Amino acid sequence: MPSSSTRKVTLSTRKVTLLGATGSIGRSTLDVIAQHPDAYELYAATAHRSREALLDICLRFAPVRAVIGTQDDAEWLRLQLREAGRGDIDVSHGEAALLEVSRAAEVDTVMAAIIGAAGLLPTLAAVESGKRVLLANKEALVMSGGLFMDAVTRHGATLLPIDSEHNAIYQCLPMQHGGGLSRHGVSRLLLTASGGPFWKCPLSELEAVTPAQACAHPNWSMGRKISVDSATMMNKGLELIEACWLFDATPEQIEVVVHPQSIIHSMVGYADGSVLAQMGNPDMRTPIAYGLSWPSRVEAGVEPLDLFAVSRLDFEAPDESRFPCLRLAREAMQAGGTAPASLNAANEVAVQAFLDEKLSFLDIARLVGATLAATEVHAADSLDVVLCEDARARQLAERLLHQRSF
Ligand code: NAD
Ligand code: MG
Repeated sequence: MPSSSTRKVTLSTRKVTLLGATGSIGRSTLDVIAQHPDAYELYAATAHRSREALLDICLRFAPVRAVIGTQDDAEWLRLQLREAGRGDIDVSHGEAALLEVSRAAEVDTVMAAIIGAAGLLPTLAAVESGKRVLLANKEALVMSGGLFMDAVTRHGATLLPIDSEHNAIYQCLPMQHGGGLSRHGVSRLLLTASGGPFWKCPLSELEAVTPAQACAHPNWSMGRKISVDSATMMNKGLELIEACWLFDATPEQIEVVVHPQSIIHSMVGYADGSVLAQMGNPDMRTPIAYGLSWPSRVEAGVEPLDLFAVSRLDFEAPDESRFPCLRLAREAMQAGGTAPASLNAANEVAVQAFLDEKLSFLDIARLVGATLAATEVHAADSLDVVLCEDARARQLAERLLHQRSF
């Protein structure tokens, strides 16, 4: 990777802020950027706690700015960079700095790859600055869907979905697909799901599942939170909500199809009976490269799909009795308002408790269900209301967890 002073910057070079640079999506994004140094330049890289990983990124990519969670880590990073002769990289910390690098005038593209609700405000800041926003952080859209999509329209942002399913649907829709699916002859969206590591596991064995088992996804290598969400199928539930907002669809227009090979990343069904699918090896560099290069295409470093090696594609209906999170998410979307934000908040508490071994695998859905049952739904008409309901659901979920009443 050339340093910023020697890199050839062309007129069409896209300047990228990478929120969540040290995570799974962050690393895949850096891999694609490194393959096209003339086309993409890293302006800012952010991380929460992983200071060594952020230092490594700064030394390899020489961004203009780096943002870390705390002042202590920022001081450590500054010192290390000075000693390595890269004292020119501006280091800052905290949420205000995340908002700044999302809004920076120099930046045209923001990859939103922070995990969970923490990504909402920096992602919205990028939207409100009219950037090209590559949306991996599905929780941001789940929490604030209507407000988020209104902001995209109002500020002329370009929103490109990076979640592989939504990226697939985007690729299978007509280029201009606004104004409701039926206007474009679309009858349904088929959201594929791998089923996660426990798809065939009997219910009796699910109670004793460990975090290590839940994080061992059969097809995708991902961060720990989304890996657990995949194992409970809450990930598919969040994705159903995400698809409703992105494509102006109702929950009834979306069918979840379990497809264990993860070769078809999702499909669009049209009124004439056509079903368009997007296929490829399960590698997030494909949707990331698509988002960076849209509307053209660039190499992503992904192995070509070998259909003879794949040999067969299977499809099954999801079993909601074993994976109730999918039902909880659909019901939250149907309830509307702040219900998806409460669902997301309760799920973040439950997943963290599971990863900390304070909650069993099946109790994740029980705790989320109990939190939602005790939560009022309000109109999600401002960000303050959404953030307030997020905080309220977190507190309630923590209390129910502590009392073991779910
Ligand atoms: P990860 O846990 O691997 O990485 C998360 C990143 O966010 C890290 O850089 C971390 O430092 C940063 N971060 C964590 N907490 C933060 C906080 N409080 N404030 C600021 N930064 C914080 O996560 P991931 O698997 O890369 O997922 C990122 C997002 O992309 C998630 O929303 C996930 O649902 C979505 N996504 C991931 C995949 C995948 O393959 N990993 C696929 C589709 C969608
Ligand atoms: Mg996905």
